[in-house]
Amino acid sequence: MPALRKTPFVLALFAGLLLGCQPAPTEYRTTLLSFGTLIEITFWGVEKDKANEVIKEVEKDLKFMHNAWHAWQPGPMSRINELLQTTAPFSANPSVLGPIIRARELAIASDHLFNPAISELIGLWGFHSDDLPHGPPPPADKIRSLVAQNPRMADITINDVRMQSRNPHVKLDLGGVAKGYGVDQIITLLKHRGINNAIVNAGGDLKAIGRHGDRPWKVGIQDPRKKGAVLAMVEALDGESVFTSGNYERFYDYQGHRYHHIIDPRTGYPAAGSSSVTVICPDATTADAAATALFVAGPKDWQRIARQMGISTVMLVDEQGKIYITPEMQARVSFIEPPASLQVSKAK
Ligand code: AMP
Ligand code: MG
Repeated sequence: MPALRKTPFVLALFAGLLLGCQPAPTEYRTTLLSFGTLIEITFWGVEKDKANEVIKEVEKDLKFMHNAWHAWQPGPMSRINELLQTTAPFSANPSVLGPIIRARELAIASDHLFNPAISELIGLWGFHSDDLPHGPPPPADKIRSLVAQNPRMADITINDVRMQSRNPHVKLDLGGVAKGYGVDQIITLLKHRGINNAIVNAGGDLKAIGRHGDRPWKVGIQDPRKKGAVLAMVEALDGESVFTSGNYERFYDYQGHRYHHIIDPRTGYPAAGSSSVTVICPDATTADAAATALFVAGPKDWQRIARQMGISTVMLVDEQGKIYITPEMQARVSFIEPPASLQVSKAK
């Protein structure tokens, strides 16, 4: 999904910063293309033949998930969307049930700021295409009328495989959570195959297990206001996920204004106030949804939503470059340059 695409900066970052100058002999690294982004997978201490074998499985799984959950190409998700529109009960394809159930829980915990039911709005903004939109924003009355339909994950009921929406305007776009769910699945597969030291990095969003030899895995967090620059480094500890949502990932400029891909479901317009949000927590699905939700919540409301979602390690960079950070995150990051403006406060 191009919605999930990030810049090739990550590759360079990993080549230079994560892995050191020369790959160590026990390191195995490969890059796959899925979810509209480059997925870099690194193992430590895994024999090459075994690594190659496992990667083949990973590749198959990624392909399956990408096709099943795609927000606008025909497949299981588009079929679910057609059936949800009918407001009649139906049996959902099991391949999409897992992420939908998790997305529903996370949407409710976020007060629906993370709202994967707003696919009609995201489509109206033109983000349902491999190419970026251009030209003027959609007409205000169309945006208003879609917001007024108030589609929410809570409109969906799920009993085993039976699903039903009471709102015909619920249309799902899992772009804000699919990568996290996919990364969790891949890490589970790696562990089943006996791989305990690995990092799966989907365009800067990642989950780590174990260590990189005698040190933890180290990753960079992109500076949202300087293309290709690293804002801070952080160690990803065993079983941790580090996810960032940013307004630099997919956007277009029109008459001096930036229109980006994270939509505030309350206004129908790209969320204002944040440039990026980084979340660290064990579960990649939660980290992904929370980064999107806190981005929408913005500098004024992120603490409340973080608390509700059970997240304590957060950094939000606002549109002016001011950094809001929890003590838990502050203890973890090393900034490349001392921030000009930093406010430390807990999730509350
Ligand atoms: P992320 O990069 O994880 O923040 O995901 C952004 C993607 O999630 C967008 O490209 C859309 O597909 C989708 N999206 C946009 N706004 C929202 C929202 N408020 N809640 C959930 N998903 C969203
Ligand atoms: Mg997300």
